[in-house]
Amino acid sequence: MAVRDITIVGAGPAGLITGLKLLEAGFTPTILDKQQEIVSTLCGEGLSADALARVPFQDWSAYAPQEFSHATFIFPNGTRAYAQKKCYTMDRTSWFRAMAAEFEQRGGELRLGTKVERVADLKADLIIGADGPFSLVGKAVGNRMEHIGGVQYRVRSSYAFDGMEFFIDKRYSPEYSWIFAKGKTLNVGLLGRQKDLEKFIADRALPDLEILKKEAYNIPFFGTKIQEGNLVLTGDAAGVTNPLTKGGMAACIHVAEILVDCVLRDKVGEYQQRVFSHPVMAPEYREALRYFREIDNSSLDKAGAMLNGRDLAHLDRATKLKIVVGGLTHPRKMRTLMKASSYANKYSW
Ligand SMILES: Cc1cc2nc3c(=O)[nH]c(=O)nc-3n(C[C@H](O)[C@H](O)[C@H](O)COP(=O)(O)OP(=O)(O)OC[C@H]3O[C@@H](n4cnc5c(N)ncnc54)[C@H](O)[C@@H]3O)c2cc1C
Repeated sequence: MAVRDITIVGAGPAGLITGLKLLEAGFTPTILDKQQEIVSTLCGEGLSADALARVPFQDWSAYAPQEFSHATFIFPNGTRAYAQKKCYTMDRTSWFRAMAAEFEQRGGELRLGTKVERVADLKADLIIGADGPFSLVGKAVGNRMEHIGGVQYRVRSSYAFDGMEFFIDKRYSPEYSWIFAKGKTLNVGLLGRQKDLEKFIADRALPDLEILKKEAYNIPFFGTKIQEGNLVLTGDAAGVTNPLTKGGMAACIHVAEILVDCVLRDKVGEYQQRVFSHPVMAPEYREALRYFREIDNSSLDKAGAMLNGRDLAHLDRATKLKIVVGGLTHPRKMRTLMKASSYANKYSW
């Protein structure tokens, strides 16, 4: 049966971007959100120009208070490697509100203050669960995910940043910490515990520090089931966030493109299989995340010394070989990490 009525649960990035893409394809979906007004959930707010260009919303520049030419990966000994890519920190709440206004202007229906209590009460040909990490629709589908806690402080400081900064240092996080400048403020956070963020901030000695807001939230990934009958999942409800970078917004965009194509071709039944075979859900991520978590600071320092000043997207064979010969990683681990990182670079931010 061709899909006509589409209901999206959730007006976060996944719901809004999917809604705009459906409108662009000629459908008129309805978005329901329990909030009285749209407010972003906690996020580092980092996104690349490549990902933004795929969102059918033209005037995003007013919602991107900080532009960077590159991301910087900082090792425990202070050495730095780079990923040259134009990227931004977004002001998510104002950007989402503008996308919601555009969604309505183009004919979509947005019902705020509408909490879905029972999925069975929803009547539509297709119900899209974009209702975040604790998704009600996800429970009805039977999705299971892994989770990690993220904690972030919004601060003011005269800190001199160098691009969008990722700190790979196991003293603070089993994965990474970040400082993302955002106009007059900074988003400073990590994957892990609040007390370790306090230590990270103290050790960085951020000048003229003023803490404006402290927040923590959940990041789900490794979704296992994203479709059942006329229910499909996207965004955090689906667990499509990148397991390595924990970037979720770009995944929402790529997954929305698959979903809209499935709806257009009247092949919604293929959605899960197509998402699971796309690089946003590459099987290499599972092992790559394990290897990334097991690398210690002494190996990171050695790798940092070899990579210092280099562009990670253009590493030559000799450098890769040096890392393997230096005993920092096994050749198979190196291959897996490189492959997963190249997918993450392309599809996760
Ligand atoms: C600390 C942290 C840092 C991050 N940093 C980045 C980053 O820098 N870049 C990046 O790309 N990603 C980042 N992410 C991930 C990113 O924030 C998420 O992947 C993304 O917000 C998921 O969007 P979503 O629309 O799926 O879910 P959400 O943003 O959670 O939106 C879900 C919406 O559904 C609504 N809803 C929920 N239940 C119901 C219901 N029963 N009825 C009606 N409405 C409902 C909610 O009100 C909400 O508006 C980060 C996450 C965290 C926690």
